[in-house]
Amino acid sequence: MKNRGNEILLFIALVVVFIGLILFYSDKVSVGEVNNFVDEGSIALRFNTSEPHWDHMPLTYNWNEECGEWNGNFTNKIRTALQEISNVTEGVITFEKLSLIEPDIMFICDASQYYSKGLIIAEAESFSYGNIFAPSKVYIYGSGECKNRPTTIIHEVLHLFGIGHTEKTEENLQDIMFEKKYDCKAYISNETIDYLKGIYN
Ligand SMILES: [Zn+2]
Repeated sequence: MKNRGNEILLFIALVVVFIGLILFYSDKVSVGEVNNFVDEGSIALRFNTSEPHWDHMPLTYNWNEECGEWNGNFTNKIRTALQEISNVTEGVITFEKLSLIEPDIMFICDASQYYSKGLIIAEAESFSYGNIFAPSKVYIYGSGECKNRPTTIIHEVLHLFGIGHTEKTEENLQDIMFEKKYDCKAYISNETIDYLKGIYN
């Protein structure tokens, strides 16, 4: 009788594991469906270019909880930064906030990393398949000095469009793509704007 009891316990344990696996995979499947939906809705907007590029618009984005708690509200800075990129490109680049686990751009606020990252305010982590950009991340470790303009976030998001750093010259003293120091009035250069509009128009 004792062995029989063990068998029943083993059977129950297997059932629990089986149900757990079903729940685990059904969660994965539903996330995949969300992504497929985003892709299907934008098939008509494929861009014909050999440059590295996103293959759809709008780009989806989301942020982690800490972005909402931090510094009063960091989410306003993110929204303002994305709006500025949309504005200067005259609406050819657009963004949509969706509660996805893996949006095109995930903003991850993490103040605890500020010192271990050597006082870096933010960094971009870009992924791509061939020349097509894949879901990427912007990490934000500090708020920076500019109170009114989210220059750092604009800078990092532009990296996710393949925009690299700009050399400082006499003519472009406020280019937002300088590697180190750019001031609060830093702007997105005409060269960058033309490049983006050329791809996503
Ligand atoms: Zn940079």
